Amino acid sequence: MKARSIPFKNTTFQAVSGWEKGKGNGISEMFHFRANCSVVGHITMARRIACACPSCTETLDAEWIAGVHPRDQPAYKKPPSCVFAPMMKADEEDLNKWHFVQLAPIEGKCNDDELDEFFTSVMAQRTKEVESEIEVGGTGALASDTEKKEHGFHLIEWTSVPYILQEPKKVFGIKDPVASGNVVCEGVFLQRIDHSKDWYEPQESTPSNRPKKIVVLLQHVLSGSVFLKPYCAFARSTLFETLRSILFIRLASRTAVLAYTSPTPSS
Ligand SMILES: [Zn+2]
Repeated sequence: MKARSIPFKNTTFQAVSGWEKGKGNGISEMFHFRANCSVVGHITMARRIACACPSCTETLDAEWIAGVHPRDQPAYKKPPSCVFAPMMKADEEDLNKWHFVQLAPIEGKCNDDELDEFFTSVMAQRTKEVESEIEVGGTGALASDTEKKEHGFHLIEWTSVPYILQEPKKVFGIKDPVASGNVVCEGVFLQRIDHSKDWYEPQESTPSNRPKKIVVLLQHVLSGSVFLKPYCAFARSTLFETLRSILFIRLASRTAVLAYTSPTPSS
């Protein structure tokens, strides 16, 4: 039996910008690489030492600002007091600064079919992870094309566990019914409060008026389980008394959306 050939052997990218010229700035000198699905374009972040000191981890945990280049993100600014800072200083230059390396397929060495297969396999793996996170009553994040205005997702409360479609069905966000065999899940949207950015509440539900259930394709789900922080900080304030049931949302972590990749890479 012939062994399977190396997968994605012909899916080769190269750095087209982001490396600073000069000795000691090549990829072999870098040991800390990070990627984030919120970055627009094929950009990865690299620096020399993968430092996990409190100053570095705190900086990297800074909230991501949608639509902003990684170089201008608070998470990729120089950490204020990294333990390696004194050793990584050459005159005024920080030798452990981040490089923002843009990658592009190498012409003639990147097969479009293999590239499609690569993205499909990433999506399949991610879908499995999302599937294991979903619980009835839990909250998930569904990708939306609103990242310029908002965070780029809708929040949805799950009313079913994921299941495989037995017949073609209309799902949220896709014009034509999707084929049987796709994995979907059902839920109802949480609604934003008066166009605020981080505040959501469950839709009103009465016996005569239940919120509309929607069916979503699992591939569109960024996270099957989003951490919701209950509203409580101002619970004693009469001004906010009526808002008690409101939930304050924060993304549980960057990992929640880290692995989402579009099946068709945008250029
Ligand atoms: Zn550090």
